Amino acid sequence: MIGAGPYGLSAGAHLKAKGIGARVFGEPMEFWAKKMPEGMLLRSPRVASNLSDPSGAFTLEAYESASKTAPSAPVPLDTFVEYGRWFRHQLGSDLDERTVLRFNREEQGFRLMLGDGEEVRARRVVIATGIGPFRKKPSVFQNLPSEHVTHCYEGRGIRKFAGKRVAVIGAGQSALESAALLHESNADVDVIARQPHINWIGQHSWLHHLGPISTMLYSSHDVGPAGISRLVAYPKITSLIPLGLRDKVRTRAVRPAGARWLPERLRNVKITVGRGVADARMVGDEVVLRLDDGGERHVDHVLLGTGYQVDIAKYDFLPTELARSIQQLDGYPKLSSGFCCSVPGLHFIGATAARSFGPLLYFVAGTEFASRELTSYLSKYPS
Ligand SMILES: Cc1cc2nc3c(=O)[nH]c(=O)nc-3n(C[C@H](O)[C@H](O)[C@H](O)COP(=O)(O)OP(=O)(O)OC[C@H]3O[C@@H](n4cnc5c(N)ncnc54)[C@H](O)[C@@H]3O)c2cc1C
Repeated sequence: MIGAGPYGLSAGAHLKAKGIGARVFGEPMEFWAKKMPEGMLLRSPRVASNLSDPSGAFTLEAYESASKTAPSAPVPLDTFVEYGRWFRHQLGSDLDERTVLRFNREEQGFRLMLGDGEEVRARRVVIATGIGPFRKKPSVFQNLPSEHVTHCYEGRGIRKFAGKRVAVIGAGQSALESAALLHESNADVDVIARQPHINWIGQHSWLHHLGPISTMLYSSHDVGPAGISRLVAYPKITSLIPLGLRDKVRTRAVRPAGARWLPERLRNVKITVGRGVADARMVGDEVVLRLDDGGERHVDHVLLGTGYQVDIAKYDFLPTELARSIQQLDGYPKLSSGFCCSVPGLHFIGATAARSFGPLLYFVAGTEFASRELTSYLSKYPS
């Protein structure tokens, strides 16, 4: 298993419990600990923020009670990182913190080269390496020097922008939450979004208070609007829907939107909607953004909350030739039961599986399904 984030840790715990010899590679929770903005809160509800273990004993609540951490909703980033690190101890010596630099196919499986140069062999490889390399950087920002433009999930530092003028591009949770955190750190923030208006999650909150009707409309994962939320809670069923319709369900479920606790925090932040950035260039020490209505913004830094685009060719441990031999759907691997791709013995879980199994796989809530499905497949077909 390559990757020790929520998916790798959960699947590793399930495989271990079944006695399937698996080794999980990677620094536990590295993406969350090092790439998410400091002070961030999880957008997913508490019940949808549990990693999955076969007994259901290693929940967020169990961690809070073991560590005497006061439960809070929404869940703070640091609590979630510590929860993942606590969960990691279930894997014991099955977790190896080394990075996988590269791996190649060979006759009987795969050969992996680790960060320290050691090589190991595996019959099967499960890729659980998340979305880190898939950050979208619109071409208009490509020529800005890297010290003047960063992506929302490129690092934790928010406080260093105190006293600076920062343009935040985008209207999704990452952009809006980063804008709130910057504002609270005394940066002068300007949000610029192409969408005609900002979507807020929970705008129809009354639909959540209709007892059994609400239960029919929404699953506890809270991914997607009424009805869609229920459907996407069943990734196996979602995978049977024709691709065109499945894509529509997926994009609707994860359209850019801000959590319900953000509007209050953004009350004094300038938000420009319905405008794109037509040009971005340096003039002296400042970035000048020209908007598509001719307006200009002069800032010290641009923070991109422009999302990500899955493209497995961007995984640098995956050799080009091997990546090319995987059947793909616009950068996503085409997966079948057991998260198998077209290369025998190779599996993908997490966001890369969302095109095949639906949007639940973008979220921590999908770890339960992914771990059980993978474990059941590998129990039936061990090699
Ligand atoms: C700003 C932001 C906020 C989010 N908020 C939420 C939320 O509130 N709730 C939610 O459910 N989801 C949220 N998500 C989505 C979140 O990314 C996923 O739910 C979750 O991280 C998926 O887990 P994962 O294990 O697939 O990926 P990751 O958490 O990214 O873990 C993958 C791990 O693989 C490791 N890795 C990569 N390459 C290698 C290698 N070559 N060798 C070894 N290890 C490697 C990385 O270090 C990384 O730690 C958010 C995402 C972002 C960007």
